[in-house]
Amino acid sequence: MGENKQILDTLIIGSGPAGLTAAIYNARAELKTMVIAGNQPGGQLTITTLVDNWPGFPTGTGGVKLMMDMQQQVRNLGVTILSGVVKLVSLSASQPVRLFKIELDNGEILESKAVIIATGAAVRWLNLPKEKELIGHGVSGCATCDGMFFRGKIVAVIGGGDTACEEAGFLSKICEKVYLIHRRDGFRASMTEQKKVLNNPKVEIWWNSEVAEIKGEEKLEAIKILNNKTGEEKILPLDGLFVAIGSSPATKFLEGLVELSETGQVLVGKNKDFITMTNIEGIFAAGDCVNIKHKQAIVAAGEGCRAALDAESWLGAR
Ligand SMILES: Cc1cc2nc3c(=O)[nH]c(=O)nc-3n(C[C@H](O)[C@H](O)[C@H](O)COP(=O)(O)OP(=O)(O)OC[C@H]3O[C@@H](n4cnc5c(N)ncnc54)[C@H](O)[C@@H]3O)c2cc1C
Repeated sequence: MGENKQILDTLIIGSGPAGLTAAIYNARAELKTMVIAGNQPGGQLTITTLVDNWPGFPTGTGGVKLMMDMQQQVRNLGVTILSGVVKLVSLSASQPVRLFKIELDNGEILESKAVIIATGAAVRWLNLPKEKELIGHGVSGCATCDGMFFRGKIVAVIGGGDTACEEAGFLSKICEKVYLIHRRDGFRASMTEQKKVLNNPKVEIWWNSEVAEIKGEEKLEAIKILNNKTGEEKILPLDGLFVAIGSSPATKFLEGLVELSETGQVLVGKNKDFITMTNIEGIFAAGDCVNIKHKQAIVAAGEGCRAALDAESWLGAR
C-alpha cells in the first residue's frame, strides 16, 4: 500500500453518527469526501440493542440497524467508507496548496484539504465477566439513553464523579430506588452535584464499595459488592447497572497535532466563524471526541452536520 493520489476535499475520521452525518452533508455539497471507518464501523450505537430517543421512530429502533442504514445512505451518495484506522495526521509537503496527509494502519496514505475528526469515545467499563454480554440486558453505560427502560425499577450507578452523581439524580426521577456505589469514601464530583445526591432520598450511597461480580444469564439479576475497607461482601439484587466511571476519547493519534484537553478531548469552539474548528486551520472535530458535555447520538450527528458545514464554508473561503 502506498500514496493514494486522489486529493480529497474532506476526509472524515470515524463512522459513528457524527462522521456519517458529516459525510452526508459534505457529499450533498459535492465535495470529494471519504470516511475512514475505524475499528468500530457504525460507532458506539452498534453495541446497543434499542435506541429509543432517535427522532422519527415511534417505538425506537435497533442500534445496529440505525447505523447500517446511515452507512448505506452515505454510500448511496457516492462516498467510500474505507476500512482502516488512522495512525497519523500531518501536514503534507505538497505545495502550493496546504494539504493534510492521513496515514492508515495498513500503510495507505491519503491527502485531503480538510479533515473532520469524529472518532468518538469509549465508555470505560468495569471489565468484569458477563458485563459486555449483559449490555442492553440490564447493564448500561448511559442513563440518559437507557434510563427510561428502568421505570419503577431498582438500579445502581457505579462511580463518584460528576457523571455518576448526575446519572444517579436523573435515574432517581424514573426508578424506585438508586444505589450509588463508589470505591472511595468521598466523591470527586463538584460540590453542587454532591449535595444533590446526598440530599436525594431515593439515592442510597455505598462508600468504599466495589463491584466484585455481575450475576445473571439472560439479563442482569444482581451484583456482588465488596467493601474494600472491611472485606465484607453483599449481594445486591438489581434490574439495572449503570457504569459511570468515565470515557476515553479515541484521540491518542492526535497528540502533538491538535490541542487536546487533559482528558484527551479535542478542543473546539475558539473560532467564532468556524465553531467546530480545532486550533489547526482546516481540522474540524465533532461528536463524543470533542469537549462537549452531552454525549448523545443526536448531539453527535448535529455536531457532525455543523463540522461539515464549517468545512464546506472554510474550503470555499480559502
Ligand atoms: C451501550 C451504549 C448505548 C448508547 N445508547 C444511546 C442511545 O440510546 N441514544 C443516544 O443518543 N446515545 C446513546 N449512546 C451514546 C452514543 O452512542 C454516542 O453519543 C454516539 O455514538 C457518539 O457518536 P460519535 O460519532 O461521536 O462517536 P462513536 O459512535 O463513538 O463513533 C466513533 C467512530 O470513530 C471510529 N474511530 C475511532 N478511532 C479511529 C481512528 N483512529 N481511525 C479511524 N476511525 C476511528 C470508530 O471506529 C467509530 O466508527 C450509547 C452509548 C453506548 C456505549
